Amino acid sequence: MSIADNIHRIEQELAGTAARLVVVTKTHPVEKLEEAYAAGARMFGENRPQEMAAKQPQLPADVEWHLIGQLQTNKAKLVAPFVHTVQSIDSLKLLRELDKHAAAHHRVINGLLQFHIAREETKSGLTLAEAEEILASDAYRQLQHVRLTGVMGVATFTHDEAQLRQEFGQLRGYFQQLKTAYFADQPGFREISMGMSGDYALAVAEGSTLVRVGSAIFGSRG
Ligand SMILES: *Cc1c(COP(=O)(O)O)cnc(C)c1O
Repeated sequence: MSIADNIHRIEQELAGTAARLVVVTKTHPVEKLEEAYAAGARMFGENRPQEMAAKQPQLPADVEWHLIGQLQTNKAKLVAPFVHTVQSIDSLKLLRELDKHAAAHHRVINGLLQFHIAREETKSGLTLAEAEEILASDAYRQLQHVRLTGVMGVATFTHDEAQLRQEFGQLRGYFQQLKTAYFADQPGFREISMGMSGDYALAVAEGSTLVRVGSAIFGSRG
């Protein structure tokens, strides 16, 4: 199956659900991104800021770039001129740094709070308490150039459906709690980014609004 076939098949699976497709393009050369673009994809996910910044000028301007990997604060300025959404917000410090650079470019950058939902300790993300500490702070309320639009999580690498459903359900629960407590008057807080090549169908069933799919489109990254 071609890249276009894979994208069209997944888009068809998502039709009628709340979920939209973020095509994860990390490690793939620009020609493959162009193929995905020609097939209609407009949201691209990269996990390294340098790689994303190198590819961005080579693609049409209407691509929405989503950073899905960890962003060190000293790399925020690399992506601030163009990034649409940083899905991996894991600290107030990062929010403040993005805000500063977004302001310099007269932009607003969207952010998703990344939560730790997997069993693996190595996977990153906030606890609910840590997220609430950020949201309750004065420093957060002063930010004008970053806008939180939802939550993101990476589930455990497993085929255990009950485990996956539990983790996706947990992330949806965090989203609902935060929405009620901090974003009740903000319809823009609406994204639950969960689901990858191996588990996106379950994530969609659990309420995902953004699935991040790479290898099911491009083949394995080798
Ligand atoms: C690489 C990556 C994906 C896509 O993974 P696939 O299994 O190739 O679909 C999704 N989310 C994050 C955070 C990633 O790093």
